[in-house]
Amino acid sequence: MSKQEISTEKEKDIQRLVYLIFLYTKKSNFRKEGWLKDQALKALIYFGIVKGLFRTFDYAPLFVTWSDQTRFVNVSMEAEAILEKLIEAKIIERLRLSTEHYRYIFAYRVTNKTYVREIPMEIKREVEKAYKCPVHGVLYEVHFTEHIEPQLICPKCEREKEKEIIHNKMTKIRARNILDVEQINFISELILLSGLLKEKIEV
Ligand SMILES: [Zn+2]
Repeated sequence: MSKQEISTEKEKDIQRLVYLIFLYTKKSNFRKEGWLKDQALKALIYFGIVKGLFRTFDYAPLFVTWSDQTRFVNVSMEAEAILEKLIEAKIIERLRLSTEHYRYIFAYRVTNKTYVREIPMEIKREVEKAYKCPVHGVLYEVHFTEHIEPQLICPKCEREKEKEIIHNKMTKIRARNILDVEQINFISELILLSGLLKEKIEV
């Protein structure tokens, strides 16, 4: 890549990042404008890098506070630096929240809507494609397991999976004497981001 190409790609990555935050915080029929918590954003950025959406971002293990633990997490320093610049430029804003354990967490949202409007359509489509379930076209939600491992889940796939399990149970009960075979087939869009977390450090 030439210097020119790198700076263009970097520009595009900045737009991808802003649009990602916008997608997860914008007002819709179902919710009012919200904030994207830092922990969820880190998981989404990591996913975007692994998926090849962000071309100029990389990640490396960084010792951070993750929920109420301190551990190594794969964090993109490029993305973190860009977030700082975007705050300075008043394109996004950051909110500091204190938790019940007297720790602080950050949350983000986009303030400059003109910037969002000017992001090229192809960039917007690319970001939506990466973070939306290919079957239902809805945004993945970031959930955390009991081990605080993030997962990206399509809420509609989850609902169908539950229905399918109930349906299978019912069928199984009815067909118990005829068929003794348990077969559960369902398609579910569930993405584990176990690579985001490195080893856990007890402190
Ligand atoms: Zn789905």
